[in-house]
Amino acid sequence: SDHRLDYPRSPSEMDWSKLYPETFDKSKVEIADIGCGYGGLLIKLSPEFPQSLILGMEIRVQVTQYVQDRIIALRKTHAEQYQNIAVLRSNAMKFLPNFFTKGQLSKIFFCFPDPHFKQRKHKARIVTNTLLSEYAFVLKEGGVIYTITDVEDLHNWMVQHLDEHPLFERLSKDWESQDKCVEIMYNSTEEGQKVTRNNGSKWIACYKRLPTPDDC
Ligand code: SAM
Repeated sequence: SDHRLDYPRSPSEMDWSKLYPETFDKSKVEIADIGCGYGGLLIKLSPEFPQSLILGMEIRVQVTQYVQDRIIALRKTHAEQYQNIAVLRSNAMKFLPNFFTKGQLSKIFFCFPDPHFKQRKHKARIVTNTLLSEYAFVLKEGGVIYTITDVEDLHNWMVQHLDEHPLFERLSKDWESQDKCVEIMYNSTEEGQKVTRNNGSKWIACYKRLPTPDDC
């Protein structure tokens, strides 16, 4: 549980050099994959954004360890590549502003988040009004939230909450069809590949972070 999770008191106290030994001095994390699972998205995003640091956040200890080992192995076999991806064990629903400053991120991914089907479990979903305000805080203006799920009810839930939030605006299907990250997100996560194997459907919704109105 949380008392065993390490997290910095504020972003300035976070030591990123362990996660990105080769590149941390050049840039800050800009892309976050929340609940990254086995890390397929991180690995595909890495060569697409060689100048950006990309972070997976995952709550399960063993899964985090697996992704860490996977990245270390890739760094060994591909000289100078995969230095821009890392994984951190964390409860992303609780400690996001401890890791990132206001407007630090340009993209946040929610790929196949846990559906929490039962009504009384809905508050445990990764998209809620309160959490959306936190995501808006750490996202820069024009930054994008990407969501994908095979659970239609969860898709509708995420769309409803994002639509209602004043700081997000849905991006069009046209935009989705031209965005490289949408294509990567559709095909590269382990959960997404499982859905493909089972001939399941995938619902996508992407939202742009709007400017904060002056009076906020
Ligand atoms: N995104 C991956 C994919 O598409 O393959 C994994 C999807 S899996 C269904 C959901 C993941 O979210 C699990 O690995 C779970 O441990 C993680 N998770 C759930 N709640 C979390 C939280 N509060 N913070 C970080 N990770 C969380």
